[in-house]
Amino acid sequence: MSVRFVIDSLDFVRNAGIHHDKIPVLELVRLHDFLFDRKGEIAYRISGQLDKNHNPGLYLEIKGKIHLICQRCLDKLTHTVDVRTFLLLVKTEVELNQIDEDDTLEAILATHDMDVLNLIEDEIILGLPISSRHPDGKCKLHKPDSIDNDLTDKTPSANPFSALAALKKTN
Ligand SMILES: [Zn+2]
Repeated sequence: MSVRFVIDSLDFVRNAGIHHDKIPVLELVRLHDFLFDRKGEIAYRISGQLDKNHNPGLYLEIKGKIHLICQRCLDKLTHTVDVRTFLLLVKTEVELNQIDEDDTLEAILATHDMDVLNLIEDEIILGLPISSRHPDGKCKLHKPDSIDNDLTDKTPSANPFSALAALKKTN
C-alpha cells in the first residue's frame, strides 16, 4: 500500500489539478522524531492554481492531530495541524533565493516528480511549535513553588563544616 502521490508540478497547475487524501501519521517518517506516538492520520488537499499575478503555485491544506512530546513532563501533547499555504512554483534557484528574501511568500522549485508527501511533511515540521509543552496547570510537572523550595532546603545543610573538618585533618 502506497500513499505516495507524485505530481509534475507545473502540469498539475496547467490542468488545474486537485487531489485530496489521508495519510497515516505512521507514513510521515520525518515527523517521527518529534512524536510521542504514531497514531492518527493527516488529511490534505492540494490544488494547482495561479496567484493574482498569474504565477503558478500549489495551494495546500493540511489538517489533523499529532501527538508531540511535552518538553516539561515528557508526556503526550496533542498538537492540531492546520496549515493553509500557497507555494509559488519557480523554475530556477535564483528565483527561489529572491523569493526567500520576501517573508510573505513561500516558494519551491518546480519539478516533474514532486512528492506531495514530502511537501506535507515539510509544512507540518515548519508549523511545529518551537517549544512544545502543556499549558500551565495542565502539565503534570507544573508545580512552580514546591520544586524551588525543595532544592533550596536540601543544598546547604552541614556540608561546609564537614569539608572544613576534612581539610584540618589532612593538615
Ligand atoms: Zn507536560
